[in-house]
Amino acid sequence: MTEPNLPLKKLHGKVAIITGAASGIGAVTARHFAYHGALAVVIADVQDAKGREVAASIGSDRCTYIHCDVTDEEQVKSLVDSTVQLYGRLDVMYSNAGIGAASEQTVLDLDLSKFDKVMAVNARGMAACVKHAARAMVEKGVRGSIVCTASFVAECGTDSQTDYTMSKHAVLGLVRSASMQLAARGVRVNCVSPGLVATPLVCESLKVGEEELTAIMAAIYPGINGPMTEKHVADAVVFLASEDSEFVTGHNLVVDGGRGVKATALL
Ligand code: NAD
Repeated sequence: MTEPNLPLKKLHGKVAIITGAASGIGAVTARHFAYHGALAVVIADVQDAKGREVAASIGSDRCTYIHCDVTDEEQVKSLVDSTVQLYGRLDVMYSNAGIGAASEQTVLDLDLSKFDKVMAVNARGMAACVKHAARAMVEKGVRGSIVCTASFVAECGTDSQTDYTMSKHAVLGLVRSASMQLAARGVRVNCVSPGLVATPLVCESLKVGEEELTAIMAAIYPGINGPMTEKHVADAVVFLASEDSEFVTGHNLVVDGGRGVKATALL
């Protein structure tokens, strides 16, 4: 029997990397991993000051910040290798870094000069993280878990965010392929698809302030107790990272409070 009021240590002893953990969903998930008993959480991002702040809030005994631009494969390789050097292995990669749409346009006016930037972070960056995490896990014989952040737009169309929507569809293709290829080696690959959470990425992308976004979200989630938060996503990531999901791979776990088809109305 578990003692009441004691946190369940679902990630006890795990060594994890979280990309894009200087802000938003990644930062909250890093704290949640620590709460769930992770031995070490490596925070990777391009926002160094914010990344170090998150690491310090968790504690230098089990959290480290490493600068890593996921669009640069060498930096991703070095992030993974440094983690293995520091902590002996890698159990969990949460590949979460992402940027919003570069252009709020329909396909008729799509600005292709900005297209590659979105794909470089959201699609190619994810592939680099999955590749190097899987390599490290296979090399060490670790039965690891890789989780990627897709989005509620990964399985539907949007009325303006063509580049972002395409990049998130690509994450599903990556997860489904990698999970098939790695299952026999004991490595699981899943993704989480958040609904709308009021983070800097969304406020900038939709050009709304946090207050306005909160009002929009209240209209989108009638009947649910308050708006969706980063913690709702973090809970799903902990599940996919932990042994609780040991027979789950190639899955897209949508965490959107039942928002479903209303997705396109906002964008
Ligand atoms: P955020 O802007 O708060 O966090 C994104 C983080 O990624 C930032 O810290 C940023 O510095 C980092 N990043 C950006 N480019 C990078 C790069 N090249 N290398 C390393 N790090 C980089 O936004 P968020 O909402 O927390 O986004 C996290 C993930 O969730 C993204 O993949 C996003 O697409 C996805 N997502 C968010 C929502 C939402 O409503 N907030 C919904 C669906 C999916």
